[in-house]
Amino acid sequence: MAQIIDGKKIAAEIRAELAKEIEELKKEGLHPGLAVILVGDDPASRVYVNNKKKACAEIGIYSREYALPKETTQEELLNLIGELNQDPQIHGILVQLPLPDHLDERQVLEAISPDKDVDGFHPVNVGRLATGQPCLKPCTPAGIIELIDRTGIELKGKEAVVVGRSNIVGKPVAFLLLARHATVTICHSRTARLDEVCRRADVLVAAVGRPEMVTGDWVKPGAVVIDVGINRVEKGLVGDVEFDTAKEKAGYITPVPGGVGPMTIAMLMKNTVEAARSLANR
Ligand code: NDP
Repeated sequence: MAQIIDGKKIAAEIRAELAKEIEELKKEGLHPGLAVILVGDDPASRVYVNNKKKACAEIGIYSREYALPKETTQEELLNLIGELNQDPQIHGILVQLPLPDHLDERQVLEAISPDKDVDGFHPVNVGRLATGQPCLKPCTPAGIIELIDRTGIELKGKEAVVVGRSNIVGKPVAFLLLARHATVTICHSRTARLDEVCRRADVLVAAVGRPEMVTGDWVKPGAVVIDVGINRVEKGLVGDVEFDTAKEKAGYITPVPGGVGPMTIAMLMKNTVEAARSLANR
C-alpha cells in the first residue's frame, strides 16, 4: 500500500518558508511584486486569478490585477506588458491563459521579459531549461520535482516515464527529471504499448487529461506515481491515474485533489520571489 504524498501539506510548508523569506527581503527594501493579467470573463480563469491573488496576500507578495475586457486588442495587451516589463514594483508578470481567440497567445507570452516570466513559458526560459542553465521554471513541473525532493526520493539513476508531451507539463518535467539524472522516456498519444512502457517506470508521471487512464496494472510495484491530471467527472474530481488500484502497487502516490494541484501556486510564489531577488542583484 502506497505512502500518500501530501501536496497540500508540502505546499503550505513552502508558503510558510516564503512568508519568512519575504519578511526578510522587505527589511532589505525589496518587496516582491506580481502582476496578473486576465482578459475576458472566463469563470474558471477568474477562480485561478483570485486564488493567485489570495496566495500573494497570505505570504506578503505585492500583487496587482489587470482585469481587461474581452475586446482588448493585441496592441493594448502588448503595451501593458511593455509597461510592466519596465515597472520596478513588478518582478513577475502572469497572463492567465487561455486568451480570447482573437489574441495571439505566443506573441503575448514572448513579449514578457524572460526575467519576469514567472510561468516559465518564454522561449528563452524554455531554452535555458533545455540546456541546463538557471532559469524560471514552469510552476507545475517545478512543483512535481519539489514534491519528490521533499518526500526524500532519490531520482538519480531511476527510470522515469512521463505520459504527456505538452509544453506546460510533459516536456518541462521530462527536462527537470533528466537534469536530476533520471533516465527519461516521454510518451504521448501515439506511443505503442504504453502500458508496457509505464510498467518500467520507477517514477511515473501522468499528465494526459484522461480520467483514470493509468490503472494499477500499469504500475511497477513500489513505483513513485505522480498524477498531474485534473478531470471533472460525475463522481467529482479525478486524476489521470486510477487511484484505488494504483495505490495498491505504488510505493508513493499523489492524490487528486491535494497532490500536484496545490504545488502549482506555491511554485508561482517561489518564482516571484526568485525573480525579485535576481532582478535586485542586477
Ligand atoms: P495537454 O492536453 O496539453 O496534453 C496532453 C498530453 O497527453 C499530450 O501530449 C497527448 O499526446 C497525451 N495524450 C492524450 N491522450 C493520450 C493517450 N490516450 N495515451 C497517451 N498519451 C495521451 O494537457 P496538459 O499537459 O496541459 O495537462 C495534462 C493534465 O494535467 C490535464 O488533466 C490538466 O488539467 C492537468 N494539469 C494540471 C495542473 C495542475 O496544476 N495540477 C496544471 C496543468 C495541467 P499528443 O501530444 O500525442 O496529443
